[in-house]
Amino acid sequence: MTIYILYSADYELYLGGNYCDENEVLINPTKDLLNLFDKLNIPLTLFADVLSFLRYREQKLFGFPENAENQLKDAIRRGHDVQSHVHPHWNFTQIEGRTYKVNADFFLLGKLDDDPEKLYAKIRNLLMTSRSYLHDLLGTVNKNYQCIAFRAGGYGLQPNSAIVMKALRDSGFVIDSSIVPGFVLKNKINEVDFSMVPKMANYYLDSDLTTPSKNNQGIFEIPLASCTFSIGQNFLSQFSYYSLKFFRARSGQGASAPSAVKEKGYPIQQVPKKNSARKPKHSKLYNFFVETIDNCFNYLDCSTDDEKMFQCTKTYLKHFDVVNKDVFFAFNMHPKGMTKDHFAALEKYHHKLTGYYQGNIQAIRYQQAAEMLVKNGLKTKTDSN
Ligand SMILES: [Zn+2]
Repeated sequence: MTIYILYSADYELYLGGNYCDENEVLINPTKDLLNLFDKLNIPLTLFADVLSFLRYREQKLFGFPENAENQLKDAIRRGHDVQSHVHPHWNFTQIEGRTYKVNADFFLLGKLDDDPEKLYAKIRNLLMTSRSYLHDLLGTVNKNYQCIAFRAGGYGLQPNSAIVMKALRDSGFVIDSSIVPGFVLKNKINEVDFSMVPKMANYYLDSDLTTPSKNNQGIFEIPLASCTFSIGQNFLSQFSYYSLKFFRARSGQGASAPSAVKEKGYPIQQVPKKNSARKPKHSKLYNFFVETIDNCFNYLDCSTDDEKMFQCTKTYLKHFDVVNKDVFFAFNMHPKGMTKDHFAALEKYHHKLTGYYQGNIQAIRYQQAAEMLVKNGLKTKTDSN
């Protein structure tokens, strides 16, 4: 059987604000990313934060949405894919130059209203808006274009996941790719708890995120691959990463030496930094130990450590019967934060993956996954009507 990897990127700006213009934050790195995928001859799916474009337009800011639309159309033209990423707070955001005045109470779909019926209507409205926007935009480039896959902003399928899932299905979505098995993130903004999701490679979800639905009903889940290393494993992984970096820097292999990274923006829960846009510097040893202990849980969001991403993928896939069953998993990226070190690691990761799994692994678009599901008897919303 085949292992399907869905390379994907959340196509979005920094949600708190940006330190440079939108081209520099999003358009240019995505251009480099698309070029890399062309070079590797594999498809990439961009999960487009549609509500940001609409909000810019509402505030008479036309440059960014136009550039973004051209880039998305170009991606489709080149054989890549574009699907829906929804950050509902944009509807409650004032864009003031490069900073955003955000109402973070509305960061999650499931918190848009206290009344269940109103909540359902609001979520469904946003999902339909983003879906028909992409259909209208991209159907002009490829008449077979279908918006069928969804990734929740901030992986936020919760709270009220039953209502979110129902709205997803009723809006015509077929695939969700928001679940990161084992991931828990609770703070003022996020309410992610994926500790209890089904321990299966893929499954259909109806309302409850913890129980797969029967008879191929509901939304098909393509999770992001994740794993938990032991502290020992993590120590070895960190150790080899840092020693490799150290020796490469010493031997003058510039491309592999860590490059100075300019921060381009800040997340929603943060306030802008006044002067230098740099993180506080800790010693390398400090970082090493913090990462060794803190980062035992890993998931595939592109980093600069190709070996760790490869080990994470291998560890994740070991849980499933890849010999007898097709497995679909997602790899995520955030172009806004990607540097040439990320691109280099991504390329190495892909070569490691294809070297190890040989012909058993294939990179596909979400639209291809949906076509396969329909062929294999997925009951879509239209069937059940
Ligand atoms: Zn996002």
